[in-house]
Amino acid sequence: MIKVAVAGAAGRMGEAVCASVEAASDMELVGRADPRLGVELADVLADADVLVDFTVPDSALENALASLHAGVHVVIGTTGFDPAPLSEAQPAAGRPRANVLIAPNFAIGAVLMMRFAAEAAAHMQKAEIIELHHDRKLDAPSGTAARTAELMARASGGGTPPIHSVRLPGLVANQEVILGDVGQTLSIRHETIGRESFMPGVLLAVRQVGQLPEPLTFGLEALLFAD
Ligand code: NAP
Repeated sequence: MIKVAVAGAAGRMGEAVCASVEAASDMELVGRADPRLGVELADVLADADVLVDFTVPDSALENALASLHAGVHVVIGTTGFDPAPLSEAQPAAGRPRANVLIAPNFAIGAVLMMRFAAEAAAHMQKAEIIELHHDRKLDAPSGTAARTAELMARASGGGTPPIHSVRLPGLVANQEVILGDVGQTLSIRHETIGRESFMPGVLLAVRQVGQLPEPLTFGLEALLFAD
């Protein structure tokens, strides 16, 4: 059994993650940390093998550093913060070294959209990204759009495509990448209809984060594709 604690457990994503972990036969939910529940992260780390963080940009880094210090692996879904200090993180004396997996999007369709967009960017002249999210999202552009732009720039050898952010009630998370060339355009669109779309990817990350070859891994694609 993998013992899982969730930070941001009272949030939209955190509640869905808690329910999925409770439903998984190989996992045990050992803690729900959230200011809204009056439970601090430190109260749940002692019992956990893996921490899943879906909090806010201002808390995610501190939570992950505390988790690594305690020797607890971390799966981070929170977007909109700079994860650079995580590469320097060390466990406390006597604690095991733990791994981190950060993914801006745990939905398989979104991971494929990013991959296809990067491939297309190498063959078409220009591209722009439109990302559309619910109006309570704190960061803009989205982590998925920023990561897509980074992957497309790497594949094309050019600059990062411009990103347009839309925030409206009624949306969950959508993204369209439009590429243009002489006499033609190509659109690659991913739509997230519900937060359950993220859960298989989150559970996959929880199962594999402890066996990753590197201490810090970006993107669910590292678990899905051989290259
Ligand atoms: P949300 O509903 O606002 O939930 C965040 C929760 O975290 C809130 O209950 C918040 O409490 C709590 N929190 C704040 N600081 C905390 C701390 N130090 N320790 C524990 N809990 C803390 O947000 P959401 O819609 O679930 O989204 C959460 C994050 O996930 C966002 O960054 C979003 O962009 C990202 N996201 C990622 C994916 C992905 O696939 N990677 C998918 C969807 C969303 P307070 O309200 O009291 O601050």
